[in-house]
Amino acid sequence: MPGNGFGEFDLIRRLERLTAAPFASSRHILLGIGDDAAVLKQTRGHLWLATTDLLAEHIHFDLTYTSYDKLGYKAAAVNFSDIAAMGGMPRFILVAMALSRHQTPRDVENLYRGIQSACQDVGAIVVGGDTSASKKDLFLAVTVLGEAPSRNILRRSGARPGDHVYVTGSLGDARAGLEILREGPKRFDEGNRSAKGLSYLTRRHLSPHPRLKEAQCLAQNRIASAAIDLSDGLAGDLRHICEESGVGALIDTRRIPISSALARYAEQRRRNALEYALPGGEDYELLFTVPVSKVTRMEALIRGQRVQATNIGIITKANRLMAIGRDGVSRPLRVKSYEHRLYSPARLT
Ligand SMILES: [Mg+2]
Repeated sequence: MPGNGFGEFDLIRRLERLTAAPFASSRHILLGIGDDAAVLKQTRGHLWLATTDLLAEHIHFDLTYTSYDKLGYKAAAVNFSDIAAMGGMPRFILVAMALSRHQTPRDVENLYRGIQSACQDVGAIVVGGDTSASKKDLFLAVTVLGEAPSRNILRRSGARPGDHVYVTGSLGDARAGLEILREGPKRFDEGNRSAKGLSYLTRRHLSPHPRLKEAQCLAQNRIASAAIDLSDGLAGDLRHICEESGVGALIDTRRIPISSALARYAEQRRRNALEYALPGGEDYELLFTVPVSKVTRMEALIRGQRVQATNIGIITKANRLMAIGRDGVSRPLRVKSYEHRLYSPARLT
């Protein structure tokens, strides 16, 4: 245990209190925190989806511009986004952390509060975890178990030539948000309207909203042929779908959804909003494909506000990614994937 004045058992008891499963939702938990392992019951006719993410301080997050509760929230939310992209619902979560001497019991509680708040949003429950000591940096690993009816599972591999390509929400906000956090908001703060836009962008980076409702709608209506959540950026994640499906894609960059906050911010910086939206990173929106026969239903879901999504292109036979630019000419789409790193390893040494 870390030498910061709190014993492991005391800490575990605090965390147990913070994460105690609500009675009504605990019928799937035969044994939760407190025994050697959790004993969980699966919903009949469902399959497990399992995913994990390891976050390292100074690599994936920086505590100078995020708080412990926001860090906890995001660590859980990004895993929920992966479950969403598979068409499932998160059920259980396990949290492992290595604490340095910088973390106080209050910090750890706040971290758990953030995790708990993300869990409450989606009905997931913490069923276990582990704490250890770290010499220097904080490490946080979150594992999520989700469930989906077997016929609803969304994969990356189902896209076929002619399918339409859709994306939820707007792209590039989180990347601009990270830039603002790194450089400090003061530089861009020009009045109230602008300040509101900046805080929207930083929020999109710090507290992403997993698209579970939208993914559930797509999975239940069996509309999407392939899906992925956008963690690496549009270009990089579209490539994942194309590689897994053995297809190519043609994207119309003029149709890529840009928030008004990003449009204004890019203008202030004299940059093209697409410079944020295309490489993007950590948008945690859904990118999915829809067969032509289901496009009318998809458009009806959009009009009925069941899913907020934009049609941005089409899947092609040719095994490459192309993008139509502002001039209407199509060119190869450069895949410059977003690095989930605050610093390059070279700068760390
Ligand atoms: Mg993913």
